[in-house]
Amino acid sequence: MGLFDARVPRYTSYPPANHFAGGVGPSDTDAWIRAIPEGSRISLYVHIPFCRHLCWFCACRTQGTATMAPVRSYVDSLIAEIVLVARSLPAGIALSRLHWGGGTPTILDPQTIARLTAAISAVFPFAPDAEFSVEIDPNEIDEARLDALVEAGMTRASIGVQDFDPEIQKTIGREQSFAITKTAIDGLRARDIGSLNIDMVYGLPWQTSDRMADSVQRVLSLNPDRVALYGYAHVPWMARRQTLIPSDALPTPEERLDLFETARRLFAWDGYRTIGIDHFARREDGLAVAAAEGRLRRNFQGYTDDTAEVLLGLGASAISRFPQGHAQNHPATSEYRKRIAAGTLATSRGHVLSPDDRLRGGIIEMLMCDFRIDVATLAARLGVAPAEIARRIAGLGDAFPGMVEKTDTGIEITEAGRPMTRILAHHFDAYASPEMSHSRAI
Ligand code: SF4
Repeated sequence: MGLFDARVPRYTSYPPANHFAGGVGPSDTDAWIRAIPEGSRISLYVHIPFCRHLCWFCACRTQGTATMAPVRSYVDSLIAEIVLVARSLPAGIALSRLHWGGGTPTILDPQTIARLTAAISAVFPFAPDAEFSVEIDPNEIDEARLDALVEAGMTRASIGVQDFDPEIQKTIGREQSFAITKTAIDGLRARDIGSLNIDMVYGLPWQTSDRMADSVQRVLSLNPDRVALYGYAHVPWMARRQTLIPSDALPTPEERLDLFETARRLFAWDGYRTIGIDHFARREDGLAVAAAEGRLRRNFQGYTDDTAEVLLGLGASAISRFPQGHAQNHPATSEYRKRIAAGTLATSRGHVLSPDDRLRGGIIEMLMCDFRIDVATLAARLGVAPAEIARRIAGLGDAFPGMVEKTDTGIEITEAGRPMTRILAHHFDAYASPEMSHSRAI
């Protein structure tokens, strides 16, 4: 097994969220919001932690609901949180990105979509070239909700597919036909939503290279602009629903690598660029352009071309990122609602970034995005001496022979080393410990 079986974080933040602690609270978040420079562009993430049906493979913090009452009450809390944030928000702030994720944001009915949008835009107007993306569940969308999302200003849709194979779908507790997925996509295209992302998962039970190839071909027939191909993390001790998934049906680490390679080759053959460790994009897509120009960044949603310094997270368990540190809202919906109702922000934990965190985080982000470290560029981005970065990365090639090579500007991960990128990033993680790691590196 060796390196293939290593369990390491996905580094959507540094330190990873499982290292956040209780020392950060509402007063820190409030101070960090007040410190945003007037007239800045920021990003906003809105978390909707409800689903009609709970899929067994999913480790998201979300709750099942058969009725809309708890969802509408939760949106009341989101709107109250927006009002609380607005009290401290400096003047002239505009949104470069708005993302609704979950859970299932499309569980919101048209009236609730309109109500939430009005509350957001009253405080956070869109910048002229802003993007508004929504995670769409094809099983949980209809014409009226599509119309409401378009009316709200949605510009990008992200559609969960996982895998189209019926046996795999049954085994992971999420059944979603190709026909229903295509209907959702046709509905989005008919409304001129030009930018479509599809999320797939590899490493699922009973997945084989042939089945993966078949699912990728079906995804390609839908012509998405981007595809995210995430590795399934089987962590039943953390996500109890996953105990319903037979662990003996899971592919081995070597088979996982084959599954990823099968998909990667097919996307490349069809003209998609490989973006970072797990994304593919058409060459003209914003993410592909950002990657080609060295502007790719990483945030809690994965890869992004957004360069905003501040990402505000609204809702239960949502994480905010500031230059000073990270702040996470209370993960339990009831406790989140209680705190907001009491008139305080709902931050329950986080992390204040030290200069060493920023340096390590910068190295990890550049490795994850660009597969290389350009010493001068990173030094300018972080405001540190190039010699300090050169010193930190000097031993990587010796620690991972054949996976890293020296270049004129720094170091580069070789083709052979690319599947190990997370392990190379992990080398710079000062908080790393085996018990804390929870996701396979491949
Ligand atoms: S996969 Fe989507 S619909 Fe299924 S439980 Fe997770 S968030 Fe909910």
